[in-house]
Amino acid sequence: MKCVKCGKEELCSGFCKAHFKRYFEEKVQKTIRKFQLFIHKDKIAVAVSGGKDSTVLLYVLKKLEYNVTGITVDAYIGNYTKQNLENLKSVCGKYRIPLKVVGFKEEFGYSLCYITSILNGSKKEKKFASCMVCGVLRRYLINKYAKEMKFDAVATGHTLDDEAQAFLMNIFRNDVALARRQGPITGTGGNSAFVKRVKPLYLCTEKETTAYSKLMEFPVNYERCPCSVDAYRRNFRSFLEEFEKKHPSVKHNIVNFFLDTLNKEKANYSNDVVGSCEICGEPSARSICKKCEIIGALRKKLKQKS
Ligand code: SF4
Ligand SMILES: [Zn+2]
Ligand SMILES: [Zn+2]
Repeated sequence: MKCVKCGKEELCSGFCKAHFKRYFEEKVQKTIRKFQLFIHKDKIAVAVSGGKDSTVLLYVLKKLEYNVTGITVDAYIGNYTKQNLENLKSVCGKYRIPLKVVGFKEEFGYSLCYITSILNGSKKEKKFASCMVCGVLRRYLINKYAKEMKFDAVATGHTLDDEAQAFLMNIFRNDVALARRQGPITGTGGNSAFVKRVKPLYLCTEKETTAYSKLMEFPVNYERCPCSVDAYRRNFRSFLEEFEKKHPSVKHNIVNFFLDTLNKEKANYSNDVVGSCEICGEPSARSICKKCEIIGALRKKLKQKS
């Protein structure tokens, strides 16, 4: 295939290397404007993991001259997170982007693997899945530091693929409330104790972020996290990939369907989160937030052990 602009060899999405780079950066800029995610004077924290999507996002926002700082949470997953952290430090050093590092051990006393092994014990059925615990604790820490450091928004590297998968999963689970909370801006729930979360890669596919990352030769880990055992999500991923091969616009169609329906009525449900956690005071729909539930269960298990 040839580039639709200049006839050179195609890299991705119908463009050669040079035209793809421009197309991708313009797409991110258009997404920020279309959904009014933030403006140039805003202070943006980019939640980075060391993976391709968030690294691409951090770099492109810096290139578009936004006021960005990387913020990463080290869950201490052996060599995987060690390597990710080194990669992030090298990208941030090279492009002069400030990086804030927060760690599970420093904040909670233990690594993710230790926390989940204590919580689940030797039970066959793991009540506390690694990704659930990791996601809850990570989100809590990012919100905590984004608030403390007075950021206007937290940008995450979610792509069109992530959004399409999540929306389908919510339909299959009949979880309308969760589906309604999706979208290019999330996280506030009408509550100012949450720093708003925005997704500038909302209209970019994973194929595009991978192509951009490889083109820029970013030092990123393309391997999956060793703790990722979410078979349910993996099924949706391969199902969508298979489908997309025959029907190339299916992911865009799913996301557009969401934007035309549920996202429009979001304002009516913006007060999903009404109360605060009785223990930590963070906003929560329940009397005890999920983070405190996990930490409480961990303390109890550790006490029983000693
Ligand atoms: S795959 Fe799961 S355990 Fe690994 S970093 Fe992501 S959320 Fe955490
Ligand atoms: Zn070209
Ligand atoms: Zn709490």
